[in-house]
Amino acid sequence: MTTDPERQARLLERLAKLPKAWVAKKQEVSEDLFLMWLRPEVPFPFKAGQYITIGTGGIERPYSIASAPYEKLIELFVEYVLPEYGGKLTPLLWEMHVGESVSMRPKAKGIFTFQSEYHNHVMVGTVTGVAPFVSILRQSERDGVRGHRFFVMEGASHQDEFVYDTELERLAAEHPDTVTYVTTVSRPNAERNRSWAGPTGRVNTLVEEYLAKWSLPKDDTVVYLCGNPGMIEDVQARLKPKGWNFIEERFWKEEE
Ligand SMILES: Cc1cc2nc3c(=O)[nH]c(=O)nc-3n(C[C@H](O)[C@H](O)[C@H](O)COP(=O)(O)OP(=O)(O)OC[C@H]3O[C@@H](n4cnc5c(N)ncnc54)[C@H](O)[C@@H]3O)c2cc1C
Repeated sequence: MTTDPERQARLLERLAKLPKAWVAKKQEVSEDLFLMWLRPEVPFPFKAGQYITIGTGGIERPYSIASAPYEKLIELFVEYVLPEYGGKLTPLLWEMHVGESVSMRPKAKGIFTFQSEYHNHVMVGTVTGVAPFVSILRQSERDGVRGHRFFVMEGASHQDEFVYDTELERLAAEHPDTVTYVTTVSRPNAERNRSWAGPTGRVNTLVEEYLAKWSLPKDDTVVYLCGNPGMIEDVQARLKPKGWNFIEERFWKEEE
């Protein structure tokens, strides 16, 4: 959001000319996480793993799409960033109701998509960073993709931030040779984690251990990194010198 009134007026005018997407459904899933389903007013083709750019109040932001291309609604998984931590669009989205609308850029963007040339897909995400993996896995299940293995590693501070755990655990249980799902909490002693019995530590610190455990061949494996830029940089610093293949989607820039 700009404080220059003329620029703000131009931005609002530009956003007003974009197609709309209607809020069809919304669900708060933790104290600062929510799911939002949008019904675009124009066809919105995309590839699993791509993002949509939406806006309101003169502010636009990109969001990885969690739904698969075959689904009717565009599903987003969003963290509410408090205004005191720099949140601008998310406080507005947090307050939106079903039936209201956002602007949407008409084209999906992004190259953080399924890398079919590799057979092993290690998908490392922090909290909302799981969204593009959900899209890729839903589409792969729907398409009956064969010959590929998916290893999803999700990190969060608290266990209630694993919003897609039921879905991903089901996939792993139903396709044990194809899908593996690992979750880890970085604050094991927090009250919100009192019933947690799984792995602990930041997800970036566990990647090497799990790559070794799964005995993955470097030349036929791609590591997808999504979400917190600190996680992405740390994993790259650990794995790049060893020659692993990566793709990444950073959700924001690290402070200088
Ligand atoms: C390609 C791409 C895809 C993205 N996909 C998603 C997504 O699926 N879900 C999502 O919630 N966000 C996503 N983001 C981030 C999103 O675009 C916004 O930046 C975010 O929602 C905060 O918006 P804001 O206007 O409230 O605050 P901003 O002014 O955009 O950011 C303020 C600060 O909030 C923090 N922040 C930003 N995003 C997050 C986040 N996701 N989790 C925790 N802290 C954050 C950072 O410290 C940032 O400096 C994506 C960003 C990119 C570039």
